[in-house]
Parts: sequence; C-alpha cells; structure tokens
Amino acid sequence: MSDKPLSEQVALVTGGSRGIGRAISLKLASLGASVAVNYASNATAAEEVVSSVEQQGGKALALKFNVAEESEVQAAVKEIVAHFGRLDILVNNAGITSDGLLVRTSAADWSRTIDVNLSGSFFCAKAVAKPMMKARYGRIINISSVIGETGNPGQAAYSASKAGVFGLTKSLARELGSRNVTVNALTPGYISTDMTAELNDEQKSGIKSQIVLGRLGEPEDIADAVAFFTLPGSSYITGQVLGVNGGMHM
Ligand code: NAP
Repeated sequence: MSDKPLSEQVALVTGGSRGIGRAISLKLASLGASVAVNYASNATAAEEVVSSVEQQGGKALALKFNVAEESEVQAAVKEIVAHFGRLDILVNNAGITSDGLLVRTSAADWSRTIDVNLSGSFFCAKAVAKPMMKARYGRIINISSVIGETGNPGQAAYSASKAGVFGLTKSLARELGSRNVTVNALTPGYISTDMTAELNDEQKSGIKSQIVLGRLGEPEDIADAVAFFTLPGSSYITGQVLGVNGGMHM
C-alpha cells in the first residue's frame, strides 16, 4: 500500500478542530487526503490544524458552520466540492454534552444536544449523499459514544442522541450501499480531550477501573479506527458499530 492511499480523496471532518476531530483531520491528511476542517466558534484551533496539515505538505480548509443548521451544512458542502472538486469521506464527529440529572434537564438542553449530535449527523450525511452517490463512492463514519450503548445517569440527552446515531448509521448503510457508499459508526470510550478534562481524579480512576486496557483512550486511538474505515481493507464493512473503548464495554 502506498503511504498516501487517500491522496486523491477529500474528507470533511465536522468538529475537526479540537480533540478527537483534530486527530482525525491530521490522520486523514497524513494518509494524503485533503481535509475540510469544520468548527463552530474557535477559529484559532481550526487554523492551527490547517497549518499543521500544510506544514506536512497536505491541503486543508477551515470551515465555520453549525452542523445543527441544515442551510449552513448545505452551503458548506457546496463550498468544499467547489474548492476541492469532490468529497469522498464524511466524519460526523462534532458533538456536545449537556450533562444533568433528568429532572434538571431543560427542554432546551435536550433539544440542543439532539440537534447537534443527531440532527447534525443527519444534515451532513444528507448533504454529502448527492456527490457521493454520483461518484459511486463514499465513506461516512459517525462518531457515536459508548454512552449510547450503555446509558449513563445524568446523560439521558447525550446517550439518546448517540444511540440515535446507530439507527441513522444502519438505515443509511442500507440506503446508500448500492452506490458503494459505506456507513459505519464508532463508539469511543473515555478519551482524553477538553470534553473529559473536567472529570476529577477520583472520577478518572473510577472510569479506569472499568477499562480492561487500564487507560483512558487518546484521540489518536479513534483517528486510527476512522482511518481503517476509509481504507480499501474495510470496503466490505457497512452498517456496523465498532467499539473503541479499551474493553470498557463488550
Ligand atoms: P471536543 O474536544 O469538545 O471538541 C468538539 C468539536 O466539535 C470542536 O471542534 C467544536 O468546535 C465542534 N463543534 C461543537 N459543536 C459544533 C456544532 N454545532 N457545529 C460544528 N462543530 C461543532 O469534543 P471531543 O471530546 O473531541 O469529542 C468529539 C466527538 O467524540 C463528539 O461527538 C463526542 O460526543 C464523541 N465522544 C467523545 C468522547 C470523549 O471521551 N471525549 C467519548 C465518546 C464519544 P469549536 O471548538 O469551534 O466549538
């Protein structure tokens, strides 16, 4: 295999500017893909990823849009296709948490979480489906969460949004498979990012005790699994949910 197997391809990584998304952007770029690095508000982080890609000789474009707004998503996908000429890979990674016990979760918190984590993935998949179906090629990778599989007290909205991603993944896999567009989901366990930085040491050691491999995951652990789903070796896999959680959940 060439060391740049994705050199003709273009990827959109939502929330590609920080944490797991940043590692995914850098990984896909290292495999040769041109990467559209989406973000919501932190332009500095997105530009840093673009610079890192360019320093390695790759191509990247920072794109600010809210995945929860369909019109913004449609416009961004048009811009990517106009800029790079194609769009082969979508990684639905942008996500938020709004933790709180059920009785303290407002309707607004519930809706915001579903809007970004679930509707955002739907809007992005819908927008890329046309160019992918036309090209008879596409790879859609949805970043769900182990919490979508297990549930968690205080995370009803987050868990529901991430469990919804399973149904979206399987339905789209069935719908788009005849056009050689595969759709798979990853369920990260606990990964060291800004999202989990607020856990205290006691919470972290409680979590570690449930992880067979004895450590929190790193963003690169998820990026490596995403890369697998973009490479030819996974071309016969669709509609699957892959746990990347150090054995925390089986
Ligand atoms: P993070 O460090 O908080 O980064 C979130 C990224 O998403 C940022 O780039 C952010 O952009 C972007 N974003 C947030 N809302 C957006 C919106 N409405 N539209 C566009 N972009 C938006 O998160 P992370 O920990 O890397 O998590 C990435 C994904 O993995 C999420 O879907 C999360 O649920 C999932 N996950 C994480 C863990 C974990 O342990 N960390 C475990 C399981 C699953 P700005 O910086 O501009 O706000």
